[in-house]
Amino acid sequence: MNLPKFERRPIRLLDPGCVERIAAGEVIERPASAIKELIENSLDAGATRIRVRLKRAGFAEMVVEDDGSGIPVRELPLALERHATSKIAGSGDLGSVLSYGFRGEALASLAAVSRLSLRSRWAEEELGARIDLVGGEVERREPCARLRGTTVEIRDLFFNVPARREFAKSDPSEKRAVTQVLQAAAFAHPEVAFELESDGSKILDLAPARDLETRVHAIFGASVAEHLRRFEGEAQGIRVMGLSSRPTHTRGNRTGQYFFVNRRPVFDKALAHAVGAAYREIIPAGRFAVCLVFLELPPSRIDVNVHPTKAEVRFRDEGTIHTLLRHAIQDSLQLRHEEAETAGGRIRALERGEMGAADNLRSMGNNTLRELMEGRGEGYDRGPRWSRGHAKPTLFDAEALGEEGAAFRPSGAPLDVGAGAQPDGLPLFWQLHNTFILTQIRGALVIIDQHNSHERVLYDQAKRSLAGKTPPTQQLLFPATLELSPDELSVYQVHRGDLERVGFLSEPFGGNTILVRGIPAELRNWNDGSLFRDLLVDLADAGRSGSDPRETILASYACHGAIRAGDHLSLPEMQSLMDRLFATELPYSCPHGRPTLIRLGLPELERRFGRR
Ligand code: ADP
Ligand code: MG
Repeated sequence: MNLPKFERRPIRLLDPGCVERIAAGEVIERPASAIKELIENSLDAGATRIRVRLKRAGFAEMVVEDDGSGIPVRELPLALERHATSKIAGSGDLGSVLSYGFRGEALASLAAVSRLSLRSRWAEEELGARIDLVGGEVERREPCARLRGTTVEIRDLFFNVPARREFAKSDPSEKRAVTQVLQAAAFAHPEVAFELESDGSKILDLAPARDLETRVHAIFGASVAEHLRRFEGEAQGIRVMGLSSRPTHTRGNRTGQYFFVNRRPVFDKALAHAVGAAYREIIPAGRFAVCLVFLELPPSRIDVNVHPTKAEVRFRDEGTIHTLLRHAIQDSLQLRHEEAETAGGRIRALERGEMGAADNLRSMGNNTLRELMEGRGEGYDRGPRWSRGHAKPTLFDAEALGEEGAAFRPSGAPLDVGAGAQPDGLPLFWQLHNTFILTQIRGALVIIDQHNSHERVLYDQAKRSLAGKTPPTQQLLFPATLELSPDELSVYQVHRGDLERVGFLSEPFGGNTILVRGIPAELRNWNDGSLFRDLLVDLADAGRSGSDPRETILASYACHGAIRAGDHLSLPEMQSLMDRLFATELPYSCPHGRPTLIRLGLPELERRFGRR
């Protein structure tokens, strides 16, 4: 490429029109940012109804109309001046900004890069006025009759900034961005009516709503709204409130996540991270809860003036906010499952079809299903609900299943692999293709993934072991020697203690060799040491990528140690697996977040067979 020959020019001031356009580019990047500024002006003016109309996603034309306070005729030209605002009086007010606007830049910026017409009538004046501008130059000013409120009409956005027009995204993606802007505003102001029309068709038509839930229902529809739970919390003068989805209802991206700080829509990594943390280990990696998070705090404790579009904020108390939000969400998911503190409670949650919820979030006693059935479980004696003569917290007993249960009980062993009714009427399991376990609970068929379930059991047990509880080990009849690579040997030396705490008893045996004398009792098979070696390999990898070694031990041990698809299980093995699964803290998903079981309710089955 031939660069032009360097030639120095004298320094000079840019002409005001050019300065305007450069500055405008910072605030107005695209139609969606224009709409955001205009809607915020309407909200600041106390509008109860806001209508937005677009042509070609706003590139050709956008109109925002409101019934807010309006602007006095005298001040109308001022509204279009840069750094002219009615919202703060000076920098002394910057620490207490509660309005959306305060920089006095939006209208001036918009006017600089489009053909803009501003019409307004102040509530206390008889007549309104109108000003038309082209590229920031006033073309026309005249009185006009209109209802109270303001209309801003913008045509040919970026007509004088060709580069910007070319960089603009495609029309459909812009339309989506505008819709998102409106939705965010609508969530923050359920009491305000919003309307969005694009090329003649209605995209949003939202009547004033009495609360956030109603507004969310109107926007997302019932299928999303019914799976959202309200959360609330407060700490050190910071309030958090909102809705977030049950762990069973997630999305593959963050499009369902909205964050607001003092009703200002923001994107904030710390807040998004706190939501992720609330659901950690409960929803799969790569999935995101749907949530609306509203944070309220004194304006003095945030800085909204980080960026011209105010889409980012800075918090003074980031740590407090993170914890507050995470706990609030976790608590709300739990509230619906107060009884899910024990294996029995978790099973009843499952019977009600409320899987994967709060019981996954609280630590609890470790009594097994069997103990509960025999009345030895702590929850059984202590729990107020259970002592009121409720049904025993059993998953599988005939009484609890009632007549339906009896009717479903097979006479033979229809799937014949490893199952059949037990003589003592205890749980009934079928192993399907040596991979899944079928069983029934009150009102539903349950299909269990044996590998995922065992992974959860192993993970949980190893986690407790690492936290200090000595795990049961099985001594190997013939201690095994393993020869390690130098890499493996060095991670072994660092983590020998942790590995021992998980249940691997081992010692150096000269050179690169180690001797393993015992393995976790929980393991069915350690494949002549290859499991242990896999663990060391994963640890060495984790060391290189900087992952938490303890977390790696847990995950790797659970994954490599778990029974696999294709492993045959005896009836007592299946039963014990179920007992131990429901004694874990998070029985409905494996440590990677995949489900351990699927519940098929009778209504669903009946529907499929055309019975309802
Ligand atoms: P800011 O919102 O930061 O004050 P703007 O350029 O967006 O700056 O608006 C300038 C001023 O014009 C506002 O302070 C407000 O007084 C007035 N204004 C703008 N839009 C409206 C509206 N829709 N209704 C009433 N007043 C408005
Ligand atoms: Mg503004």
